[in-house]
Amino acid sequence: MNRSLPSVEDRFAGCLLGLAVADALGAHFEGESPEVLAYRYRNAEDLIQNPPAGELRYTDDTQMAIGVAEALIARGQIDEEILYRQFAANYVPQRGYGYGSRIVLQAMVDGGDHRYLARNLFSEGSFGNGAAMRVAPVGILFRRDPVRIWEQARLSAIPTHTHPLGIEGAQLVALAVGIASTLDVFDRQDFFAALSEMCQSIEFTSSLVRAACLTNARDLGQLGNGTEATDSVVTAIASFGLTPDSYVQTIGNAILVGGDTDTIAAMAGAISGAYLGRAAIPEHLLGKLEDNYQGRTYIEELAVKLYRLHEAP
Ligand SMILES: [Mg+2]
Repeated sequence: MNRSLPSVEDRFAGCLLGLAVADALGAHFEGESPEVLAYRYRNAEDLIQNPPAGELRYTDDTQMAIGVAEALIARGQIDEEILYRQFAANYVPQRGYGYGSRIVLQAMVDGGDHRYLARNLFSEGSFGNGAAMRVAPVGILFRRDPVRIWEQARLSAIPTHTHPLGIEGAQLVALAVGIASTLDVFDRQDFFAALSEMCQSIEFTSSLVRAACLTNARDLGQLGNGTEATDSVVTAIASFGLTPDSYVQTIGNAILVGGDTDTIAAMAGAISGAYLGRAAIPEHLLGKLEDNYQGRTYIEELAVKLYRLHEAP
């Protein structure tokens, strides 16, 4: 299929705004069952054309992605101390943070031993999707270097997620963003093969094999809709893989899976935006995205700064 190719700068904006819009829209449906959503909406377009009334307010996913972007802009790569500082500076508990993240982030704010908490709050560390939901800026900045993406995504995860599956979930989302942002034409088998090539765990590897074979958005739920990385990361990647030429379909289908809708949509939206660029995001949704402190305008500015960093010699 021919499409007018987005510029690289446009893909940076598409990635960050695509994440924020999908997170904010998905937040309205968090915890819903797929059956209830199927009853309310005929399909993805129906959901996107009839969003909930009022402003779209983003959640912890976007707030932490902003922190990752700020940290990258400050140092050109992930610096642990700067990342902690940005997470703590941006932290607003009311943005829907999970239990573990609230405890670790509050310790960062208070000067407590957040490293100990991140390692020991859950046995073996968290394998939730909290590192994957915020990692997109890493993927878009290092888009031409999968090895760098893999390493930088790991560093961006460990402040809160030390379990190998929590880390690998973030690595996969970052890599999906990076690859999508370099593609002019999407080839499904190549895309999933490139992700599987870097993948270490049997959990994600087997899930990617299933995702590559999916043919119907109604089956996305088979890949999971929960808050664990293994229950959501590949669902989001697969939603993009089914409808690469449509941001609307990609985030609409990700939300219709139900469960952790804000995060699954945020990850899918970032990948889709990186492939299609900003113009693919419906204006009526962008117009509803909150635009006060660290809102739409600020997110666009971060995308421009990340792009300049990417272009710098
Ligand atoms: Mg959230």
